[in-house]
Amino acid sequence: MGQKYVYLFSEGSGAMGDLLGRKGANLADMISLGLPVPYGFTITTEACRRFYDEGKQIHPLISSQIEDGLATLEQITGKAIGHPTRPLLVSVRSGSSISMPGMMDTILNLGINDKTAESLAYQTNQPAFAYDSYRRFIQMFASIVLDVDSSLFEEELLRMKDIAGVTRDSDLDADHLADLINRYKKIVSEETGHCFPQDPIEQLMKATGAVFDSWYNQRAMIYRRIHKIPEHLGTAVTIQEMVFGNAGVNSGTGIAFTRHPSTGEASLFGEFLLNAQGEDIVAGIRTPSPLSLLQDNMPVVYAQLKKTAHKLENHYRDMQDIEFTVENSRLFLLQTRAAKRTAEAAIKVTVDMANEGLISRDEALLRINPSNLSPLLQYTIDPHSVLDLLGTGLGASSGAATGIIVFDAEEAERLHRTGLSVILVRPETTPEDIHGMVASDGVLTIRGGVTSHAAVVARDLGKPSVVGCESFTVDLEERRLHAGDRTLNEGDVITICGSSGQVINGEAPLVPPRFSDEFKTLLQWARDRKTLPVLASVNSPREADLSRRMGAEGVGLCRTEQMFKDPHRLGIVTKMMLAHSAYERRKYLNQLIPIQKDDFCGIFRAMEGKPVTIRLIDPPLHEFLPNAEVLSLEIERARVAGDTGELKQKIALLERIQILHESNPAFGHRGCRLGITYPEIYECQTRAIAEAALDLKREGIHVYPRIIVPLLSHTNEMLAVRVNVLNTLEQVYTQYCDRMDIPIGAFMELPRACLTADRIVEYADFFVYGTNDLTQSTYGFSRDDAEGKYLAYYLDHKILQDNPFVVLDQEGVGQLIKIGIEKGRSKRPGLKIGVCGDHTSEQQSVLFFQNEGLDFISSLPHRIPMSLLSAAQAAIHTEKAPVPTTKQK
Ligand code: ADP
Ligand code: MG
Ligand code: MG
Repeated sequence: MGQKYVYLFSEGSGAMGDLLGRKGANLADMISLGLPVPYGFTITTEACRRFYDEGKQIHPLISSQIEDGLATLEQITGKAIGHPTRPLLVSVRSGSSISMPGMMDTILNLGINDKTAESLAYQTNQPAFAYDSYRRFIQMFASIVLDVDSSLFEEELLRMKDIAGVTRDSDLDADHLADLINRYKKIVSEETGHCFPQDPIEQLMKATGAVFDSWYNQRAMIYRRIHKIPEHLGTAVTIQEMVFGNAGVNSGTGIAFTRHPSTGEASLFGEFLLNAQGEDIVAGIRTPSPLSLLQDNMPVVYAQLKKTAHKLENHYRDMQDIEFTVENSRLFLLQTRAAKRTAEAAIKVTVDMANEGLISRDEALLRINPSNLSPLLQYTIDPHSVLDLLGTGLGASSGAATGIIVFDAEEAERLHRTGLSVILVRPETTPEDIHGMVASDGVLTIRGGVTSHAAVVARDLGKPSVVGCESFTVDLEERRLHAGDRTLNEGDVITICGSSGQVINGEAPLVPPRFSDEFKTLLQWARDRKTLPVLASVNSPREADLSRRMGAEGVGLCRTEQMFKDPHRLGIVTKMMLAHSAYERRKYLNQLIPIQKDDFCGIFRAMEGKPVTIRLIDPPLHEFLPNAEVLSLEIERARVAGDTGELKQKIALLERIQILHESNPAFGHRGCRLGITYPEIYECQTRAIAEAALDLKREGIHVYPRIIVPLLSHTNEMLAVRVNVLNTLEQVYTQYCDRMDIPIGAFMELPRACLTADRIVEYADFFVYGTNDLTQSTYGFSRDDAEGKYLAYYLDHKILQDNPFVVLDQEGVGQLIKIGIEKGRSKRPGLKIGVCGDHTSEQQSVLFFQNEGLDFISSLPHRIPMSLLSAAQAAIHTEKAPVPTTKQK
């Protein structure tokens, strides 16, 4: 008998997603739940892989199994494909094991031809319906299977509506439709040199091959790349009896979400089109009405839908996105899948479901991908501001975005590459535009509803989008957007709000994010569940305060140089950096101490009772110096103006800058190198830290300062700085007649430090890894250059699987971290080791940190929620599958 490639719905199950695709598996599942699903069968993903292995041929074994499946379907339905009086019509649907909305092709109404169209017309006594089904089929089959440009049919359809004097497709009558069919067939013969195929079996086999083939169309490939879906999966093909939403006024098609996909609100939400087939909604060709249209017109069907939605949600224990069709007041279900949703909705749905008892808290914590939280941590449009409103559409994907108008996907990609923020503006939403959506900051369309595929994809990508903004028109040729009596050109700036649907002229004022109650709850659950402490990387008292409120358990890294960036302070720092002698340097440093001390006091206060790790100054001198080119220009100007006083001063400054110039500042005179060659700098900073701490101690405030030394590579560097810091501390203690324990640690960001951690630890009380710089120094990549130039190519061509600045490279950088931990703790068991860097808010990296037995992670204030959630997930995972920690020697 050979391998089984075809499964009837009654032979499949929800667990067979890999083989039958998500769509096929869930259809089988719905049948076994007793739901009204048109019957059919599914051709497996294995058949698809075999199709490709055999040079895009459907093997005879597979085609004979398809014919067997069809025979059974004919028996069950009591109809036959191509039959003159009882014609069976089917859909040929794509579906991979991971849902890829709208990315592959589907063909409806297959089995229709000149004869069956007539018999359908006669039997239903609705010729308009029969012809409408036929013309739809010709268009889909021709564009998907025969590669005829779909716009040829669109133009013909528009022309026919003009002739008939109607605006809606569904208003065309039988005669006009019959005429249209002839024109469509003519297009096919002209474009392909062959007549439109009349044999239903030929139609079926060709359609099946074409759907297999759509696995490799451009949009599907882009979608897979973005979502890291493996190429080898392939698509299943489902053949299913047609039901007709276009069979008249008691028919229609719709999509229902069991909860709101943008807000997560727990009530049925969806869209409906009367007298239409499913493709009209999902392809965004027509802007549908809200579900209330169904509720008003067919209350019984609506009630049944509501009950079914509830049943499906309970069955899958997740929010569902359901496709349904109503044929002559009878409800049919055509698809259900876990609904794509915005970050906001994801959180509300997950927390609500945990509270409803549908899922556990651990499941809730595991369901949210921390990296998807980022839209919630962004700024949104200030609700109190006065806006120059251009119009309002449907908010399809929350968040606000400002950018320049761009009218096609290619241009969006091009401009995005030059670093511009763009808003892609299109007449309608189509999945073909996916590459442009990826490159855009937001998407605006004139037609289409919030359940169309493109809106679904925007939500999935976390891009703000507004759809169905029908008061606008787009002129693609002139490249203009008309909003009422106003005209905007490509390149003009607009802001869209994907929650309210507002489209605003220019840049709108933004406000910081507010967390919903559900978000706060989720973060509380995360705090309760995690075991790895989450600290904050802050540069000011204000940030420390914010972080504390978000639940940070201390400061893992305070970068003192950031404190010098405000203009007033920078002047003093510049003078200090330019000083010719230690004496002169100390003069300016003494002016800086009180300022730094104030900042430290503020941070200590905000973090009362918690550790605060302060890094001694790190960056190269030149970062604080004026730009040499600008200065040269100013010198020229002073020369012309004959201002000798200023001229002299500026020339001296330029000379000093030139002396300090470094050819590779990233590896330059900085970090502990600066602190060792100019010991007075670290001395003054240490003094500021110790004085601030002792002042507060006198006030009765509990402070736990720690000092950390940047850019170490050799243990003697650690020793030199340690001696300097300890001496300074002793001086301060004597002065205050008081003392406290201030540990001195090593910042681990160079490979040599990791490799010699057993030596460094002789003089270091603790370690903190800086994974950003450790990644740069391990790869020899400069992050800015890499991300701006070659890294995207590396990722596209799979030279690298992930961006190592986002997902920790466990194989390389991770190995250095492990070596450092092992060597450090071999000399000093129980050595406290933390980590800071962008990786501390990324799921997989945090799991690695947890498994390696680190003592804390530290992240930027606005990323603390991601870190908390990552840490909670790591705790749950390690509990489920305990991983041995690094072996102690
Ligand atoms: P996609 O993955 O692009 O959504 P689908 O296979 O789900 O493709 O089909 C596209 C549209 O056609 C959907 O709206 C679906 O509900 C509708 N459809 C598919 N099969 C049938 C059928 N047998 N009868 C009626 N409508 C169908
Ligand atoms: Mg679908
Ligand atoms: Mg560094």
